Formats: sequence, C-alpha cells, structure tokens
Amino acid sequence: MSHGQILRVAINVPLSRLFDYLAPSPGHVPPGCRVSVPFGRRTQIGMVMEISGDSDLPIEKLKHAKAVLDENPLLSEIDLWLIRFTSAYYHHPIGEVVAAALPMLLRQGKARDSLVRKVSVTPEGARTDLNLLRKRARRQAELLALLQDAESLSFTELDETMPGWRPIRASLIRKSLLEEFETTDDESRADRLANVEQEIGPTLNADQKSALKSIRGAAGFHSSVIDGVTGSGKTEVYLHLIQDELKAGRQVLVVVPEIGLTPQLVSRFRRRLGLEPVLMHSGLTDLARLATWRAAESGRAGLILGTRSAIFIPLKNPGLIIIDEEHDGSLKQQEGLRYSARDLAVVRAKKLGIPVVLGSATPSLETLQRCDDGAYNLVRLPTRAGKAVPPMMRLVDLAKHDAYDGLSQPVVDSITKTISHDGQILIFLNRRGFAPTLICSGCGNIAECTRCDSRMTVHAASNLLKCHHCGAQRRIDSDCADCGSPCRPLGHGTERLEDALRSYFPNEVITRIDSDSTRLKGTMSKALTMATSGETRILIGTQMLSKGHHFPKLTLVVVVNADQGLFSTDFRGGERLAQSLVQVGGRAGREERQGEVIIQTAFPDHPFWSELFNGGYPKVARSALVERESAGWPPFSRLALIRAAATSREDAHRFLTRARKLADATGIDGVRILGPVSAPMERKAGRFRAQLLLQSRQRGVLHQVLTSLRPSLESSTEARRVRWSIDVDPIELF
Ligand code: ADP
Ligand code: ZN
Ligand code: ZN
Repeated sequence: MSHGQILRVAINVPLSRLFDYLAPSPGHVPPGCRVSVPFGRRTQIGMVMEISGDSDLPIEKLKHAKAVLDENPLLSEIDLWLIRFTSAYYHHPIGEVVAAALPMLLRQGKARDSLVRKVSVTPEGARTDLNLLRKRARRQAELLALLQDAESLSFTELDETMPGWRPIRASLIRKSLLEEFETTDDESRADRLANVEQEIGPTLNADQKSALKSIRGAAGFHSSVIDGVTGSGKTEVYLHLIQDELKAGRQVLVVVPEIGLTPQLVSRFRRRLGLEPVLMHSGLTDLARLATWRAAESGRAGLILGTRSAIFIPLKNPGLIIIDEEHDGSLKQQEGLRYSARDLAVVRAKKLGIPVVLGSATPSLETLQRCDDGAYNLVRLPTRAGKAVPPMMRLVDLAKHDAYDGLSQPVVDSITKTISHDGQILIFLNRRGFAPTLICSGCGNIAECTRCDSRMTVHAASNLLKCHHCGAQRRIDSDCADCGSPCRPLGHGTERLEDALRSYFPNEVITRIDSDSTRLKGTMSKALTMATSGETRILIGTQMLSKGHHFPKLTLVVVVNADQGLFSTDFRGGERLAQSLVQVGGRAGREERQGEVIIQTAFPDHPFWSELFNGGYPKVARSALVERESAGWPPFSRLALIRAAATSREDAHRFLTRARKLADATGIDGVRILGPVSAPMERKAGRFRAQLLLQSRQRGVLHQVLTSLRPSLESSTEARRVRWSIDVDPIELF
C-alpha cells in the first residue's frame, strides 16, 4: 500500500526523538514547515524536520497530521541543520531546541505574517508644515515628522521610538492628518532609514586599520578575535565591517550580553549606520520578537542586534556574525537548553561560509587557546583609541586599613579628592542588599534560608531577610530565636554602602544601581541618564554597571571587595575575577581624564595581584592557561555535567549512580567520570542537588558516551523522581 510521505516531526516534549506522521493530505510538505498533530490526547504544534519514505512504526499505526501551518518553510535547510546540530551537541531534546529557536507566537502556531496595526500620513498630513504645527502642538509635530519621513510605522515601532504617542495620534487622526490601517507584516521594519543623519565616525588609528585589513583579508568562513582593551575602538571596527556587508546587501547579526544591549549602543549603531537595527532581547513583547524574526528571515532587516537567543534567527542573506564580549557568561544559557551563543555562532558561520568576529577586552581562555592553535585569527588593539589613557590601578590592604563600613580611609580620601576635581566615582560591589548575613550577638546564630543551604541577605529598607537563591523572604528577626540576644547585620551590601556614603558625603548626588533599586519601570533609564550626564557624583552598583556603559566623567572606580574571587573553588575563579576587574576598571577614564581604580583586599600578597598588576589580563590569562593544561581542565579537556535535583537526596544520587553505570557500560575509553557528588550548595528551593562530571581530552569520545547514555537515562525509572539535565561545556560547576 502506498503511504505517501512520512513527516518526521519535532515536538516540544522532553524526549530526544522525532515523531512520525502521515501528511494530512496528498501533496508535498517541505521540511521547515509547522504542522499541527495529534499527540496523546492533545493537539501539538510541531516542526517538520525531515521527510522519510518509511517509519520504525508500522504504517497503519501512524496518524495523520491535522494541518500544515506554513505555505512556505519557516526554516531553511541550514536553519534546520543548526537545530539538529544544537540538539546533538548539547544532547537536548530536538523539539525543545526548535522551541528555543522560534519566537513564542510561532511556537504557538500563529501565522508568520500576523496583521499589524500601522499609521501613516494622509496626503494632507504629508503636506502639513511642521514648523507651523510645532508652534501650537509640539508633540503632534514630532509624531507627524516621524511619519512624514517613514511613510508608515507600526504601533510597536512607535511605542519604541516615541513613548506616549498614542493619545497624540488620536488628535492627528481627528484633523485627518494621519490614518490607521492593518496590514500583514511584510513591509514593516524594512531596512528603513533611521530618522537621523548618518554620522561620520573617527578616522581609524593604525591598529584599527590593520585589524580591519586582517579581518577583511580572508573570504568565506573564518573566525577572528579582536582582543582590544576597553575603549580601544572595537566597536568602531565592527561598524566598518557592518558597513561593508550592508553595502553588499548582506545581513549582519550582532550578539551582545544581556546587560550590554543598552540604549546607548543601539543609538550608536543607528546614528553611525543610518539605519534602524532590529532588536531581539528579553524585554520585547512577543509581537515585537516576531516582527524582528520576520524582518531577519525575510531579508528586510540589515542589522539584527540581539542577546544570545538571537543566534537562532534565520537570515535570508547572511554576511557576518559578530559576538561582542565573547567571554561573557550570559552568552551561555544556564537552564533548559544550555547552549553557548558564541560557540554556536562559530559553528553557524562555518556552515554558512561567512566570517565570524569575536570581540572582548578579556577573551576567554577557550578563545585564546583557539588563537594559539591557529584556528582563530587574533587581532589586537592594545591601546585606548582617541585621547584616553589606561586607568591606574592600586590595592588597598584591608589588614592595614580598617574598612568599618566597607570603605577604608584611603578610599574615602580618594573619593574626596575626586569630588574636589569634579570627577565622578563608581563604587563596585557585586552584592546587593544591606548585608549578606544576620548574626546573633549572643550565640552567633546565623539566619538561614529554610529551603536552601544558604544565608539570608538583610534588606534593611524593606525590613526583610531575603534568600537570593530561591526568592524566599521573611521579616527581620530583631532578637535571636534561640537565645534572645539582639541580632545584627554582618558584612556589606550595596544598600549599606549607600548609607555609609551618604553620611560621608551628604551634599553629593548618590545613585545606587542594582536589581533592587531599579525594579520599578523607568528607574533604570533615569538612573543611567543621570550617571551619564555626570549629574550623579557617586554611583554604587553591582555587575549591572560593569559593562557596556560609557560614563564620560567617571574617573575613579572603587572595587569594595574582590576577595571572594581569590579563593573560588571553581577552576575558572581567577579568569572570572580578572575579567570582572578589568571590565569594571575599564569604565574609568574613558575620555580625556586619567582614570584610577582602587581595589580593596585583605590578601595583597596573593600572587594573583602581582600578575594582574604587572602583566594585566594577558598575564593572568597566560598563567591560567598553563595551570589548566597541567591540571587537564578546559580548554585542554572537554566537560559535561549531568545535574539532578530531587526532593530527597537519595533520589538525586540514585539517578546519577544510574547515569554513571550507563556511562561505564558503554565501554568507551578516555572519559573520566567524577561523582556523583552533592552540589556545593546542596539544597536549593527545597530540592537536593547532585552532579556527575564527565571529562575527556577528546570531545569525540565524550559525546559518544553522552549519545549512548541519554536514551536509557531518559527512560530509566530513576529519572521519574528527579529533574535532570545535561550541560555540555558547562561554565559553572554546580
Ligand atoms: P570599545 O568597543 O573597544 O570599548 P569603542 O569603539 O567604543 O571601544 O571606542 C571607545 C571610544 O573611543 C569611543 O568614544 C569612540 O568613539 C572613540 N574612538 C574609537 N576609535 C577612535 C579613533 N580611531 N579615533 C578617535 N576616537 C576613537
Ligand atoms: Zn542567639
Ligand atoms: Zn532560599
């Protein structure tokens, strides 16, 4: 009996296999189209990954797909390839990879071209004299000006470019100057020109020129790394490369860390390229994400600027992929599909036959090692561009100088001096709240989270103890439950530092930027505007402030405490600490004035400091590479971490013991298996966590083990009682 074609469909369920269906009706269904299919008792949306002539199941058992949702494939062969690769490399269920790669609305089965509401000028509106209107109704003129230039704009676009425009539109419609209509999305967000004059950038210096030449020199796929100190002009080099591609009619995808995608950066791209980049990040509505996805997929968008998930966006005419701050941990997803956008960028560029550029002031050791290998082309920008000079760094020994309220006397003196020279100060402390610990003054009892193996953080302003791991919170106990003595906060968080600084410098404008102080909508951008304009004298911040921002008046950076990083149990501790210090230090003195960085430490003799001070990040990185090689850690070996969490410790360990047995049973040599062991912080949100580490010098054998173990593990009885995951190339070992 002829059965036509069999659709092999990826469905968003945690199983690493495809599901076979018969086409809903005779005729060809190309891979890359979505179908709705009966699945269990429900209907699911699936992605046709391939077409096959036969199935493992008897044909008469196969069900028909209910409908084909796309006339033309949503994903190209190469997009499907990337999904298959990602699923195989990260040992993650393919349906979940498809889900991660598609915008929510497409995942839910919405049409690719949804109707969008737009406004445009009427002929009368087009003729209206803006100068006249401006005198009477400034905002109306502003909106009309936008639309006279752009012909039509969608509601989403206007929400972004001109907040509060909606009531103004109503008045203009009443005057018959504007009209509203609905259309399919195909023309919105076209590679339209921004409403700004294209700005000419600075003339490139010799290093930038040779970097450009070296990157432009090769055709087709090649990976280049721009290792350039902060402020060396990496972004300028990107801008030239992007310009090349746009002129040639090709698209560029730029991926930046979550906190690096600032309005400052977007506006710089807009002004310098004279076009509106389309954005993909977590702050967008589902509709806006779909619009970006469509603009990229259809080829209408020239520049796509996004955070890590943008790495999956289909491109009609790809020319170049840029990964900025390639060392940044946020490029790796830490839950669900644990992919690295940087690593996938290289793989994808290779498949597409286009260049990829990785940029950083502090390249990861993985990337440096590939440069050493000759796999990547390394270009250096060793000095700051323009007139800026590198900041001076010094240590303050906390053993010699008390830092009663977190700030030692030398630091207070430097702040005072900086204020007298009209400079701006950034106080960096990667710990929000008032104090990390609440301790009883009588018996030494410490307030802990009841659901995690962790201490509660004191939040004085809200009078709460909060757990930063699970979100639990309770009122601050003023007296100890055990002995009745008063409790007091121990240690410092940003909130406490703010109090201290206000008492030292009562007349200065002090702004704290952390996730507590910026929870309310709009507070973050207001705080940043004040900081950028120089109105803020003293900025206090967590790592939210350490990257991407450009504060022209900032001359002094104080790192309140760096010691946690010195004694990290993670083999990446030193690399991370050096990266974060160099990045935050890089905020200082970005224009004409010399910057200064002061780091407080109780361990000034730790060898880390002499390396950092004598050789900077390159020296730290070099010696870390030597250590890693002798210890056999990445990048000289490959890791995979299997994690399990369960309501009982035994269940978590039993599952991992099973995983270990399965791995051993493969009989594959060359993979070292460590564990199972309990996670460093074993209990989190009421679950016990454990892990099994697999390590190998050869990537191939590690993946063979994972590939052969996964299906049995997935269907094992032990798996039912745990939440588990495989993390390939983990960047956190817990
Ligand atoms: P990075 O991306 O490496 O931090 P940027 O490209 O943002 O560096 O450049 C830092 C600052 O130096 C910016 O204000 C930029 O306009 C300026 N700049 C970059 N290149 C030059 C140059 N060749 N001449 C003068 N100024 C430059
Ligand atoms: Zn007590
Ligand atoms: Zn907790």
